[in-house]
Amino acid sequence: MKFITYTLAILGLGVASCGPGSHGKQSSVDTVTNQKFKAYEDQFIEQLWKENPEWATQVGFHQYDSLLTIPDAKARTLRLEFSKRHLDSLKGFDLNELNLSQQTDYHLIQNYLESNIWSIEEERSYEWNPSSYNVSGLIAFMLAENYAPLATRLEAVHQRLVKIPAYYEAAKKQVKNPALVLTDLAIQQNLGGLSVFEHDLRDSLKSSNLSAAEQSAIQKASNQAVVAIKGFIQFLKTNPNPAPRSFRLGQELYEAKFNFDIQSGSTAAQIYDAAIARKSYLHGEMYKISKDLWPKYFGSTLPPRDSLLLIRKMIDTLSVNHVEAAEFQTAIEAQIPKLVAFVKEKDLLYIDDSKPLVVRKEPAYMAGVAGASISAPGPYDKGGNTYYNVGSLAGWSKEASESYLREYNHYILQILNIHEAIPGHYTQLVYANQSPSLIKSILGNGAMIEGWAVYTEQMMLENGYGDNAPEMWLMWYKWHLRTVCNAILDYSVHVKNWSEQDAMHLLVDEAFQQQAEAAGKWKRVSVSSVQLTSYFTGYKEIYDLREAVKQQEGQQFNLKTFNEKFLSFGNSPVKYIREMMLK
Ligand code: ZN
Ligand code: ZN
Repeated sequence: MKFITYTLAILGLGVASCGPGSHGKQSSVDTVTNQKFKAYEDQFIEQLWKENPEWATQVGFHQYDSLLTIPDAKARTLRLEFSKRHLDSLKGFDLNELNLSQQTDYHLIQNYLESNIWSIEEERSYEWNPSSYNVSGLIAFMLAENYAPLATRLEAVHQRLVKIPAYYEAAKKQVKNPALVLTDLAIQQNLGGLSVFEHDLRDSLKSSNLSAAEQSAIQKASNQAVVAIKGFIQFLKTNPNPAPRSFRLGQELYEAKFNFDIQSGSTAAQIYDAAIARKSYLHGEMYKISKDLWPKYFGSTLPPRDSLLLIRKMIDTLSVNHVEAAEFQTAIEAQIPKLVAFVKEKDLLYIDDSKPLVVRKEPAYMAGVAGASISAPGPYDKGGNTYYNVGSLAGWSKEASESYLREYNHYILQILNIHEAIPGHYTQLVYANQSPSLIKSILGNGAMIEGWAVYTEQMMLENGYGDNAPEMWLMWYKWHLRTVCNAILDYSVHVKNWSEQDAMHLLVDEAFQQQAEAAGKWKRVSVSSVQLTSYFTGYKEIYDLREAVKQQEGQQFNLKTFNEKFLSFGNSPVKYIREMMLK
């Protein structure tokens, strides 16, 4: 519900223009570009796409669209060689001779390469995570995204299709002691992906102007791909697996993955401790507000003795205030200009009006996941629109729809719009686009991006958004508690061996979630790791940085200047932005 569609990449709004001076003071940082490093970056990116043709397709670089990486030992050797070769190249540069933006690029490239090596040599998820083998998303993307004429895309699809049998043959040979839940996921997702071949591709062929002979050749290759996928599913179902690996990452791998993926200034254990402390703080605040609000909603009825029950009762009562299903998208649309006006009135940061956000009904190929997301054009797709995709509730049962609308009630819907759009993800994207570093858009830091969106929720409320109504604060705390508990849950499950029951207790009793939402989260934490901590980690680091800058600047501190300067560094890990801002 609060995610950005990474498949379409993060940056590249193209021409977003901010007048000079609109971002407050230009920093006195060294902005002289080291040309040698710039040339190296270009060369690195070119080789990166050759090394990762599937990823290249999805960021909009289409030179290698006909290639499909066969996931075998040879591919891993090539990837190791690529990574070690480029780590050597990086050693040829002195960080002190790069400007600040390039220094961050350097760190991002280095982190990416070291992460590759770690993943192949230590994590080895190609053995125990069969869900990493799936081609349907890639083919669906090529059919649905209109980046080239259909005939051109189908030709590239054809060349990939013929490699799919070899792809799954290799996949079978890599799988060893796979985790059961990841095996189930692989079966489910590969099964689900069959419709791409059996429906989407068929439809595309029909509406294409390819010759009958070419169409039938593609159809034949597609049929063979389907056989290969079904063979892989059959293999996963029947291959003896007497000693499956646990889906839990374990302490050592977890700490390492956290360092690579989050690039935080803290360890995973420190973030876990901070999240536990934040949870108690939130519970305390929520109790105070709920107790004060009680008479307003319940008159002289006695409140529950248990503080968590009291909070839950207040939340349930406030959640009844929501829009109707048919008005969901209109309500979101109507809120965007209000958020823009508020940000301007309070002078929180500059907002560029020249590229308005387009709110649209979620396109068909994204359907299935209700809610909202931002789709930004990829780094090579200059000038494309940025969309705010809103899921439709049409066809939902009355109960499901009501439960969803209560979750995205009057209060939370506003917070969702702050997070996704203004001044959250969308605003951040516009700023990131002005830091014209392809590296920062390709290897951008997810914790910074999510952290910013979470930080803006709090920043808006602190500045009086929602008229400081206690109801608004209570509901934001509830929403924020989800972010905090995501971090607690992820660490607890993967490092501290938590059971499903422990998880449900945290999510339902302590974070006031519905059973269905909590069950979905348990599923997510058992098939992923570390990503769930990115929201809280990024938020905490941005908030801490703001407090540190306040300390340093005292009376001089200006929120607008802070926000704009922070965003001017692009999608960099917060720890590097911190170094640059506190210099
Ligand atoms: Zn988000
Ligand atoms: Zn209702």
